[in-house]
This record gives sequence, C-alpha cells and structure tokens, in this order.
Amino acid sequence: MKINLANIKKAQKLLNKSECVAIPTETVYGLAGNAYSDVACKKIFRLKKRPRNNPLIVHYYNNLDLKKDCNFNNKFLKLYEKFCPGPITFILDLKRNSKISKIATNKKKTLAVRFPKHPVTRNLLRSLKFPLAAPSANISSKISAVHSTDVKEDFGKKIKYILKGGKSSIGLESTIVDLRNKPKILRLGGLELSIIRKTLNKKIVKSINPSKVSSPGQSKLHYSPGIPIRLNVKKIKDGEAYLMLKKKKPNKVNYFFLSNKGNLNEAAKNLYSTLRKIKKNNYKSIAVDKIPNKGLGKTINDRLLRASKF
Ligand code: AMP
Ligand code: MG
Repeated sequence: MKINLANIKKAQKLLNKSECVAIPTETVYGLAGNAYSDVACKKIFRLKKRPRNNPLIVHYYNNLDLKKDCNFNNKFLKLYEKFCPGPITFILDLKRNSKISKIATNKKKTLAVRFPKHPVTRNLLRSLKFPLAAPSANISSKISAVHSTDVKEDFGKKIKYILKGGKSSIGLESTIVDLRNKPKILRLGGLELSIIRKTLNKKIVKSINPSKVSSPGQSKLHYSPGIPIRLNVKKIKDGEAYLMLKKKKPNKVNYFFLSNKGNLNEAAKNLYSTLRKIKKNNYKSIAVDKIPNKGLGKTINDRLLRASKF
C-alpha cells in the first residue's frame, strides 16, 4: 500500500490539538483521539453516542511505548511476539503513574490495548507522542465501519478528518483476551481462539456472557444494521434479503453472498459491508443461511447473533 505522508501529517496535526480523526486498521476503522487527553476522549464518546461506562481501546505502536502505561507478563509477551501487530486486544493492569485519561478508562484500573497492523496507522502511531484511544468508528451499537466511505456515511462532517486506508483486510473487530490471571477471552474476534490457545498451550476460559457485561462488546444488541435479522434460515419470507456464505444458483436479486467459494476469511471481510448494502437497498429484514461454526465462522456467528437481538 502506498502511504501518503501528507495525509498522515494532517491527521497528526489534528490529533495533537485533541481533535478526533478516523483511522484505518486491519480489523475495522477506528475513531481516534489522544488517549492522554480528557478533551479528546470526551469527544470520542460524544461523537459515537457511546455510554460513558464503556471504556475505550488504546492503540500503541509497540510494547516499548506500552511500558509507560501498563504492566504485562510473560503470557502477554508470548502472544505479543507471535501476533502483534495484529487483531488481538489485551486487558492489562494500568501503572499507577500512567497518563491515560480517566475518561478513556471510566476510572478502571485496567486498560484494553492493541497494536494495529495497518501500515498507515502504524506510520501515524510512530509519529505521535501519545497512544490513540480508538474504539470502532461507528455510532454506538451499530455496525462497524470497514471502509472510509462507511465512516463518512455514519458521521458526515462531524468528524474533522478521515485517514483513508482502503477496505479493512480482516473486517471483524479484534479478539479480546485477559491474561492477568487465568487466560480469559472476553470477545471473539479476528484472531481465532484455537490459535491463541495453541500458542499459550493453556486452556482459555470463555467469559462472553452478555448477562454479565464486563466488556460491553459483549452486550446484547450490537453490530446492528438497524433491521431485524433471523438466523439459520432455510426458507425465506417474501421480501427478505437472504444472506449466504457461498454463491448459490440460480442467483436472485435478494440473494447476497459473503464469499464466492465459501471461504470464511473472505466472508468475515465482507460481512459488515454486505449488511450495509442490504440496508441501503431498503430491505426491511434479513434472513441468514447457516454459517459453519468453525474458524472465523465463530466470530461471524457471534456478531450475527448479537445483531439479531433487534
Ligand atoms: P470497540 O469500542 O468497538 O473498539 O470495542 C472495544 C471493546 O473493548 C469494548 O467492548 C469495550 O468494552 C472493551 N474494553 C475496553 N476497555 C476494557 C477493559 N478495561 N476491560 C474490559 N473490556 C474493555
Ligand atoms: Mg465497536
């Protein structure tokens, strides 16, 4: 990918003034602000209409920068070395003298941190003197943005600048792990759980229960395109859009496919953009065919299940 340094400079200037800028990442686009600035973090909450009790993920260039704000252990280092930069978020203990805004954390003593892989955003992070608080660049509880055009659609002129970086290559949010004690997973995401388990060589407890929300990405209605969704549908109703993993023949106007050949990674990449397309085409509801619950299919099913709590 060609990197336009003038664009990065523009984003840098705005961020230095505690303004918000949308940034591309390999998972989804983020709505970024200086994580050390209360002013910037307040703006993020306001723009997203995000409840103040839902803390923000903070993005770092590398673990050297992270050291200033958080403590971490060997389990973290093992995963960091293998998967970072990449689609994994860690819950860590904040250091007492950390400069992270208490608005970002909602006064929690822990911080969710990530190291995004997208070259444009890595370049930006390297040029800044602070990490970026950057939750997904969408209105709270709605579908995440996987392209700069999605961000524009959701926020219009309310965001000062959108740093463009093409379509997100993974297309699903990061996997959230808490390794402070026994490894726990708080949100399924773009990095498969089985791969994390293999690397740690340890059991990972799933803590993804929406009734006890410790990570609001777990909350019931989330990732919603704003119309009802029915899952595991074999027979669709009149007027419904039919979302399927793989191309089916004969093709009909209301059939939408996530991948030509049924590849789950490609499906993940296309999930949110396809849901947006269906909504834009004025369908009033979506029926989803069964999607295999393996690999990234697990994350796709998790998102569709939450989106179906309409
Ligand atoms: P998003 O805001 O869409 O990028 O998602 C970030 C997710 O990380 C949300 O579900 C947050 O609730 C979660 N999160 C942020 N900080 C923490 C934390 N300290 N402990 C647990 N989850 C967190
Ligand atoms: Mg989000």
